[in-house]
Amino acid sequence: MLSGKTALVTGSTSGIGLGIARALAEQGANIVFNGFGDAQQIEKLYTDIGQEFGVQTAYHNADMSKPDQIQAMMTFALEKFGGVDILVNNAGIQYVANVEDFPVEKWDAIIAINLSSAFHTTRLALPYMKQKNWGRIINLASAHGLVASAQKSAYVAAKHGLVGLTKSTALETAPTGVTANAICPGWVLTPLVQKQVDDRAAREGISNEQAKKNLLLEKQPSGEFVTPEELGALAVFFCSPAANQVRGVAWNMDGGWVAQ
Ligand code: NAD
Repeated sequence: MLSGKTALVTGSTSGIGLGIARALAEQGANIVFNGFGDAQQIEKLYTDIGQEFGVQTAYHNADMSKPDQIQAMMTFALEKFGGVDILVNNAGIQYVANVEDFPVEKWDAIIAINLSSAFHTTRLALPYMKQKNWGRIINLASAHGLVASAQKSAYVAAKHGLVGLTKSTALETAPTGVTANAICPGWVLTPLVQKQVDDRAAREGISNEQAKKNLLLEKQPSGEFVTPEELGALAVFFCSPAANQVRGVAWNMDGGWVAQ
């Protein structure tokens, strides 16, 4: 379905981004990977996915908190593949503390990586998409883009902001073949969440398994984690012709989290 198209997925060396990159590659899209990690492991990861699905893959190590590096990554994608047809803004970090204790540099980093980076990639990708009259912008927000939790002020602010950016982008592109939508996952067991599980287990003196159960019980009525594969399938749907008129939504896939 997506052969001949190029997808750039930020933060795709791990977790949800990797799941979405795999799902898009399976549909035939070429993939530009981005994210941190061990250089050899990253090379193996994008080479293997390229071979498995018979698509071209590449990698750029831009730090998504740095606008000049984001610009360099977009130029790299343009030179390598001619442009970005599918932009998945996924890179993200978390930090947990009360507002009055929140380290200022953590606030700045979360806003830069989880929100401003999507503004920069979007502004740089749109001219090409508009010229082709086809494009897909998929922003990885969160259930925290729709409702809040205590001690996550920067993350909640960034994710609510990302939902807002998605809606404005969708309105500006409404007369074109470019769509912009947000995905709002609940708990997904990735390294980002594993850290919160570990912290909780240590704090409450409970096992890792019990900490996972408690985490889910608190917010996610299904009692089950969302998976990167399920999120990948939703991203593929957004890229399909059936989703041509899906514009500006913040689609929660969260085991019932925000239905409460
Ligand atoms: P993860 O930690 O597994 O992956 C994050 C990715 O972002 C990694 O590839 C990492 O290298 C990359 N990254 C981090 N900082 C970066 C930077 N400055 N520049 C470039 N890349 C950077 O996390 P995940 O759980 O897969 O999260 C992916 C997205 O999904 C995030 O935006 C997160 O907020 C969102 N999300 C996650 C969950 C969850 O439960 N895991 C729920 C809702 C939303």
